[in-house]
Amino acid sequence: MSGERIARVEVLVVVIPRETPYLGAAREGEAPNARGYLVRKGNRTIYPTDDRTMLVRIETASGAIGWGEGFGVIAPRATAEVVVDLLGPLLLGRDPRDPVPLHEDLADTMRVRGFRGGFFGDALAAVDIAVWDLAARLAGLPLVRMLGGQRHDCVPAYVSGLPKPTLAERVAEAEHWASRGFDAVKFAAVVADDGPEAEMVGLRKALGAGVRIAADLHWAYTAAEAIGVIDRLAAHGLWFAEAPVASEDIDGLAAVAAAARVPIAGGEELATAFDVRERLIRRGFAIVQPEMGHTGITQFLRIGHLAEAFHARIIPHATIGVGLFLAASLHASATLAGVVGHEYQHSIMDRNLRFLDQQGMGCAGGAYTLPEGPGLGVVPSAALDPYVRFRETA
Ligand code: MG
Repeated sequence: MSGERIARVEVLVVVIPRETPYLGAAREGEAPNARGYLVRKGNRTIYPTDDRTMLVRIETASGAIGWGEGFGVIAPRATAEVVVDLLGPLLLGRDPRDPVPLHEDLADTMRVRGFRGGFFGDALAAVDIAVWDLAARLAGLPLVRMLGGQRHDCVPAYVSGLPKPTLAERVAEAEHWASRGFDAVKFAAVVADDGPEAEMVGLRKALGAGVRIAADLHWAYTAAEAIGVIDRLAAHGLWFAEAPVASEDIDGLAAVAAAARVPIAGGEELATAFDVRERLIRRGFAIVQPEMGHTGITQFLRIGHLAEAFHARIIPHATIGVGLFLAASLHASATLAGVVGHEYQHSIMDRNLRFLDQQGMGCAGGAYTLPEGPGLGVVPSAALDPYVRFRETA
């Protein structure tokens, strides 16, 4: 295996139609535009009406293949272009068994122009996952064994997103999952029509005391408002409050965390340990939620180890995609002692599993199981081919 070098880097943009957009049907004033995007009024964030993602395929001169995936929900061709024009050519000729030095070198190329997120960060995440996958396959090891070893056999899952149009239906959806062994759910305040407190009360009444209920506040409040909202939710047994204030309001986050009687969670939008560190040193997060589609494996682990050093818990975010970066997230989660749960986006994951050739990865009875075999343990299946909109070699 000596002399193994990266010889080809390819990107694929995938678009998979959905009947119901993520977070449920469009509400009044949220009509999709001609490009298939809608802005959720509650958090002012743009979402596609279909599932979109960006995959990276890396091949060595000897024909070994690694797969990666990055967050490609919005303008995925922008992320793809970063790989084709910038990162891919820099990978050519490099040894894929050096994933961390490769990640550092690629990050350095844009250090003074913005390497801490956005389309560049997502492209770097996809490349990083593909290089790690390839390194683990060349070693003949499941990825988790390359990342420090397997701490957890399975990863506890909480049900996220109850994409139904009314509170009564969202409560019924939560009850359905509780009856299937999931003892934790999270609701999205951004689509809680009667406000987060009514949502919390409705869910608590139906689910009883045995199910943990978290609230995603989607960065929607000022610090003072968030303290009040969280206090009212805490009265009904809130598990954690996520993203209470604007992402850039670190002072506000620290104030909320100091005042709240429940753990404050966040960090899904932060792609590097540098960004998470700023919040941890202010004790803004009791729970850190890294998103593999933004961080890649290298930064995910750095964020995880940093969280452990601050005695914060880790409950990774899950955007899903077609499941490649979900597999990476599960491998990385299984190695971190601080991981106590992992988001489960059932409305995306369950329908997209058919796009993977794999054995073992699933989410049932309240926990994820990892895919088997070397590397990520998953590769795209032929079922994905009709949904590949764009394909280009770097
Ligand atoms: Mg969230």
